[in-house]
Amino acid sequence: MHLVRLALAWLALGFSNTAIAAAPVYDGQGNSYRISIDANARRAQVRADLWLAGDMLSMFNVMTVPGLADGQADLVEGLQVRDAAGTVLAPRKLGGGDYELAGGRRILVQYSVRLDHDKYAWPAGAEEIGYWTDEGLMITGASLLFADGGDAGITGPITVEFELPRGWRANTPWQRAPGAEKSATERFSVPSRRELLSNALFLGTADSETFDVGGVQMTLVLGNRYVPSKDLFLDLLRRQLESYKDLFGGKPLSSRYLVIINEDKSGDGGAFASSFSQYIAGDADERNRVIWGYVMAHELLHFWNGLSITPVDYHEEWFKEGATDYLTIATLARNGFIDENLLFKRLENVPRRYLIARMAQGLGMSVRDSGKDKQPNRQLVYGGGSLAAMALDVEMRVRSRDRVGLPDLMKALYAQYPMPGKRYSLDDIARIAGELTQSDFRPFLANAVESTGYFDIRPTYEALGLRMDSFVEEMFIGREPGATAQQKARFDAIFGAVSARSQ
Ligand SMILES: [Zn+2]
Repeated sequence: MHLVRLALAWLALGFSNTAIAAAPVYDGQGNSYRISIDANARRAQVRADLWLAGDMLSMFNVMTVPGLADGQADLVEGLQVRDAAGTVLAPRKLGGGDYELAGGRRILVQYSVRLDHDKYAWPAGAEEIGYWTDEGLMITGASLLFADGGDAGITGPITVEFELPRGWRANTPWQRAPGAEKSATERFSVPSRRELLSNALFLGTADSETFDVGGVQMTLVLGNRYVPSKDLFLDLLRRQLESYKDLFGGKPLSSRYLVIINEDKSGDGGAFASSFSQYIAGDADERNRVIWGYVMAHELLHFWNGLSITPVDYHEEWFKEGATDYLTIATLARNGFIDENLLFKRLENVPRRYLIARMAQGLGMSVRDSGKDKQPNRQLVYGGGSLAAMALDVEMRVRSRDRVGLPDLMKALYAQYPMPGKRYSLDDIARIAGELTQSDFRPFLANAVESTGYFDIRPTYEALGLRMDSFVEEMFIGREPGATAQQKARFDAIFGAVSARSQ
């Protein structure tokens, strides 16, 4: 089973950079962070010169874990805030990483962060928070930096400067600041609070190379063990990215991405605004591409579904994760990364995860409601979600005599609800599916994702010329010998003419 995650909390981050109209007026001086890393002491020293528009200074995405009641914020030490005249201020600690402080003024913030994040059991895994390797430090912006906690985001331009140990590089998805090449430190311009906080960074000596992948600047940072696999990663990223551009009818929101890969037995990954952080268990080769390639392709697809288009709230987490999982399977098959045998195993896993959620875990809520508590309910979010996405695709094809399917719906969502700013809901999915097929999709979606009953996936497989034989948790998918030409053509339209062997 794959533990692929996208922290829901990121979606709560603001996306705009607009100034607040109320007095006092922004002083126009921008926001700068200076981060110094002492690798031996496992510490970061942060100095920030910020415009605080709202009345809150916050560390975002803070999660409580055993030993850290305020999560990442409990690793902060010696927080000191002054005003522009140098007077020490006394922000009121509210918990959860929030400090109340009168805004509408410039503040100077200084603190250090104990870089011990990998000593704690984060619900989403260390790859979404921070960890060390013998080549340096992976850390997210949110685990290091305080920012204006107001709804409007950060007012004015943002720069981040790193002072690193000798021989280290700062790998970020951000643009280098003008004139930075002449500086002894590494300096970057960051377009928004979301880009500042919702990104993974790698600071250290690990192998790092930037490629143009279909017009997207992609930097791969690879732990030593994965350098020999670079071509395999690039091949998968290039071909999947081309498929996703076709699927969504355009490039993702960001044109620069950072991918960080290191070793850990979890094999898990996490996607951020312009980066993803992935663990691989053991070596990465063609034989186990079915595992690492799946995680990589899933996280890459989130750059569109999840980050370039985003649901209004947790209710459509099933669509964000489920459509991503289903379309990952379909495109990996189309691109020849998985053969028919592995494809059928994947298609068996989808209803199995749903069955585990409903029967073994006894999760009785609807698939939509399961998104409220994503980590404990993940089998229902991902399993129920990908089952519903597949059923939706097939139903759209059946109703439209194979004229349209889920890819047309994804294109319409991408065109009509682009981030930043616009977000979709279930009503939008129902409306677009209805318009594309000239039929009412509300009852179908009610049954698939709003019901607390057991959704029957067998008609979906039948319509693809497949049969599923099952006994409790045993599921076997194979080709139905009596399948019609139309059913076979539908299968090929989704999965391609999959061969018996992968490339
Ligand atoms: Zn995901």
